[in-house]
Amino acid sequence: MKTKISLLALIAFSITFSILSCKKSNTTKKDKELTAIEKLTEGNKRFLDEKTVHPHQNKQSILANQDGQKPFAVIITCSDSRVSPEIVFDQGIGDLFVIRNAGNLISDIDMGSIEYAIEHLDTRLIVVLGHTECGAVKAYINDKDGAYKKHFNHIDNIVETISQEKEEIDADKTTPKATNYLGAIDANIKHSTKLIQDNPIVKEHKIQIVSMRYDVHTGKVVQL
Ligand SMILES: [Zn+2]
Repeated sequence: MKTKISLLALIAFSITFSILSCKKSNTTKKDKELTAIEKLTEGNKRFLDEKTVHPHQNKQSILANQDGQKPFAVIITCSDSRVSPEIVFDQGIGDLFVIRNAGNLISDIDMGSIEYAIEHLDTRLIVVLGHTECGAVKAYINDKDGAYKKHFNHIDNIVETISQEKEEIDADKTTPKATNYLGAIDANIKHSTKLIQDNPIVKEHKIQIVSMRYDVHTGKVVQL
C-alpha cells in the first residue's frame, strides 16, 4: 500500500514538474523571439490577465547580471507609486533601465542616464511612460496662481518645467478645463519624447522611441 502511494506521488510529481518545465522553456523561447516593444506589450497583457510569470526574478538572474547588464529598454516614467515598470510590464532583474521623477520630465541628468544606457549598455528602445491622473500635470493645470511658488520649494521646479512646455500649454488652452487632464498628460509625454528624439546620440544610434500611457484605473498601457 505504502509503495503504491509513493508511486502515485512520484507520478504526480513528475507530471507537475514536466508541466512547469514545459511552461518555463516555452516562455523563455518565446521571450527570445519577441522584439523589445513586444516584450513590453506582452508583459502588460500578462499583467492585465493576471497571468504574470515574474521573469528573471530569481537567484539565477542575479548571478547572470552580476558582472554586467544589458537591459532591452529604457523606461522614463513618473515616480507615482502606481506606475512600477517591472510590475506593469511583468519584467525582472536586468530587463529595464528605469528613470523616474514626478511627471516623467527630462532634465540634463535624465538625458545623461539615457545616453549612458545607449552607449554603455547597448539599449535600443526608449519608452516614455506617462500615466492617467498624473499629479505633476494636475499641479500644473490647477496651480497657475503660483501656489507652489509661495512655498519656495523644489516642487515648483516640476510645475515650472511643465508650464514652460508648448505642447502642454496648447493642450491646456484647447481643451475644456474639466476634461483637459488627459490632453495635458499626453502632451507632457510627447514633449519628453520630442526632447529625446532631438538628442544627437539618440539620432546617431537610430534608437526606437515610443510614447506610452499607463491607466491607473485599469492597469493597461497604450501606445500614443
Ligand atoms: Zn505622475
